Parts: sequence; C-alpha cells; structure tokens
Amino acid sequence: MRYRAPKGVHDIFSPDIHIWQRIELSAQELFKVYGYTEIRTPIIEYTEVFTRSIGEDTDIVEKEMYTFYDKAGRSISLRPEGTASVVRCYVEHSLYTLPSPQKFFYMGPMFRYERPQKGRFRQFYQIGVEAFGESHPAIDAEIISMLYNFLKKINLNDVNFELNSIGCQKCRTIYRETLLSSFMKNLDNFCPDCQRRYHLNPLRILDCKVDRCIEARQEAPSIIDFLCEDCKKHHEEVIERLSYLQIPYVINPNLVRGLDYYTKTVFEATTSNLGAQRAVAAGGRYDRLVEEFGGPPTPAIGFAIGMERLITLLKEVLDITINLPDLYIATIGEKSEKEGFQLAEILREKGLRVEIHYGGGSLRSQLRRADRLGARFVLILGEDELKTGMIKWKDLNKKQQGEIEYGNLPLILNLIKEG
Ligand code: ATP
Ligand code: MG
Repeated sequence: MRYRAPKGVHDIFSPDIHIWQRIELSAQELFKVYGYTEIRTPIIEYTEVFTRSIGEDTDIVEKEMYTFYDKAGRSISLRPEGTASVVRCYVEHSLYTLPSPQKFFYMGPMFRYERPQKGRFRQFYQIGVEAFGESHPAIDAEIISMLYNFLKKINLNDVNFELNSIGCQKCRTIYRETLLSSFMKNLDNFCPDCQRRYHLNPLRILDCKVDRCIEARQEAPSIIDFLCEDCKKHHEEVIERLSYLQIPYVINPNLVRGLDYYTKTVFEATTSNLGAQRAVAAGGRYDRLVEEFGGPPTPAIGFAIGMERLITLLKEVLDITINLPDLYIATIGEKSEKEGFQLAEILREKGLRVEIHYGGGSLRSQLRRADRLGARFVLILGEDELKTGMIKWKDLNKKQQGEIEYGNLPLILNLIKEG
C-alpha cells in the first residue's frame, strides 16, 4: 500500500525548502528592525474565535473551515488565518497592558477547504504581522512600506499595491443603503450566493469572484465617496505618506477583502505573474476587533503573505544554492572506515558538511556517489595511505588531485576551505 497525502496539501523538501528558509529568515530579520516579535498561537481554536471575527457569511466561514467536534463535544476549527488567534491571545493575556504599540509576527500553516488549484491549497502557509495600539495613519503606511521592503529584500520587484478604505461603522451604514438600492435594480443578474448576501451582508457582493457578479456590480457606488470626515482624512494621510516614501500604489475602490473585521485601510500586494491567484499578500486595519473580543478599544492593523505564491514567483528568479557536501570521505576496508568515521565527526565539528558511506564498497562506486551528491572534495583513506601517513585528495570542481599529510588537521581544513 502506498499512501498519498490528502488532496490540496503538500510536502516541502529540498531544494524548495531552501527558498522557504531564506524567505522566513528575511522576514524575521526585517520585521525585527520594525519592532515585531514572533508570536506562536495554536493551530486549533474554538470555532467561535473565527466565526465571530471573520464573519458568518464570508467564504472562509461559510465554506472553507475545517471544523470538527472534539471528544468533549466542543466545536474546534483549524485556523484559516492568523489574525483572529493573535487577537484572542492579545486579549486573553491582557497584552494591552504593555506599552503600545505591541507588534507581532507569525509564520505557519493555515487551513481552508478550497478547491485545490494553482496557488490555492488546503494547507498553505502564511507569514503575517499585527500591530496593536496605534491609530495614526502613518502606521498604515509604515506597515505597507515594511511589506514593500520585505518583497524587495527577497528580490520580488514586480509587485503592485492596491489600496482602499472601507470606512468605519458610521460611513458603512450610509454606503450600505446606497449599495442596496443600486443592486436592487439588477439583483437577478447576481449569483445565488450574492442574492443571499444582498440581505445579509451586501458589502460581500463587492468581493464575489463570479464573472456575472463582477459584471453586474460595475455601476455600484464607490465606498470612497461615502467616507466620513475622519475616515477620509485617515485615507488621505495614508496616501500622502505612501507617496512620501515613494511606494507605488493604485486605489482600487472595489477592494473590500474577504473578511468582515476590517475598518478603514485595506490593501493587497498583487502581481501579474500569478494568473488568477494574483494576491501575494493582503491586509488592513481592524480597529474594532480587540473590543469585540472583550478587550479595551484598541486600534490595530496587519497583513498576511501567502508563502506558496511567493515561492512560485521566486523559483523563477532565484537560482537556488543548495547545501552540497564540502567533503566526501572515501574509505577502503574496515580500519579505514573507522578512521573516516572519526574524521568526519572532527571535521563536522569545524563546520564542514561531510558525507561518508559506511560499509565500504569499491572506491569507484564511492567516487561516483561523491560526484552524484555534488561533493566538492574527496579524501581517500586507503589502508596503505594510512600506514604511510599521506592520503590522496581530489577536488571535483577543479578536477585536481594530490596528497596531503593525514595527521595535519589544519592543513586538511585549509585545503578543503580553499578548494
Ligand atoms: P484570495 O482572494 O486569493 O482567495 P484571500 O483574500 O482569501 O485571498 P487572505 O485571507 O487575505 O486571502 O490571505 C492572505 C494571503 O494568503 C493571500 O493573499 C494569498 O497569497 C494567501 N492565500 C489565501 N488563501 C490561500 C490558499 N488557499 N492557498 C494558498 N495561499 C492562500
Ligand atoms: Mg480566499
């Protein structure tokens, strides 16, 4: 019986894993400079943590969550995104009592029951950040700038930022009314889901990806025209700061994002190189969520980056350097193998990546193996050589060979490092 991983999930290993690690390291380094510390929340939460925050009639909660009952009959869900858990943690541990802003980053798997396709998986990874306690629009621009700098740092240059404001409760109430009367005229043209959303949450119609809905909502009013004074000022200030930092963006008045908790600023980083799944990262402000989770009123903003989409893009531009062996130790006979066994450990302690094949085999097969592994250097510990104290070396890159004094470790190290 050969097993396969469940549909829509995948294994990650070399050589791809080297890109993953490089991206993760770049994120850690950059986010640290902006004052973010890592946060690790559980992969499971009580289902309500997600339904309450993301919204009952969003795609994620309606169709995409992995929900089950545990043995005590509690409804548990695998996290479909990171923000809800971070907010739950922030409130549960009263992190708002710490000096603000408090800034966190996370990286890890998310789970959504979606139709698997290019750039869309059932287990996928996100790197995300959340900043709590700062209401000034400058931090909106700062966080977008951090995302911009991150993408630049990992050599992803072909990215556009789309920006919008979806206002606050106040502006959305008026907008909602106008939207309803606008959709009323051609409600039949929308998909059944949107016809239902019309009554429950009409703003969601703006996020529907069905072609006929995209067509049918062409005439819809834009939220930007309905922003209250405060939201409008906030939006303008974000734009001004982005221009100040020379970060390229476009305003997309249809950008509402697929989650209900956003207020004011929403944004996406998109690229034309990914086809339909073009968003590499997305985020926004969520000024009411901490309060809804039982904490004090706390403005907050964050974004999440989709790792797989980054990897797809980077694979095209990066030439991956994998961790090839610095040295292969070939041995002939039992005594020589034991000698090599010990030498390998000594050299690994010095930081060299050393391979050795236990149990012998012909010298020819060992050399072939060294070559296939991509080893740069080979040391041959033959019985006779060990007796004379002079062993053979081969530099497989430079196609050179010679002899070296076996007992002289610094000399051997030098030879390999220079090779
Ligand atoms: P989309 O519109 O592509 O469905 P989304 O609005 O559902 O994205 P978010 O919840 O904002 O996505 O997640 C942020 C990022 O995570 C996305 O921009 C994308 O790069 C990535 N992402 C989301 N869902 C998936 C998935 N099923 N598989 C792989 N990556 C994903
Ligand atoms: Mg989605």
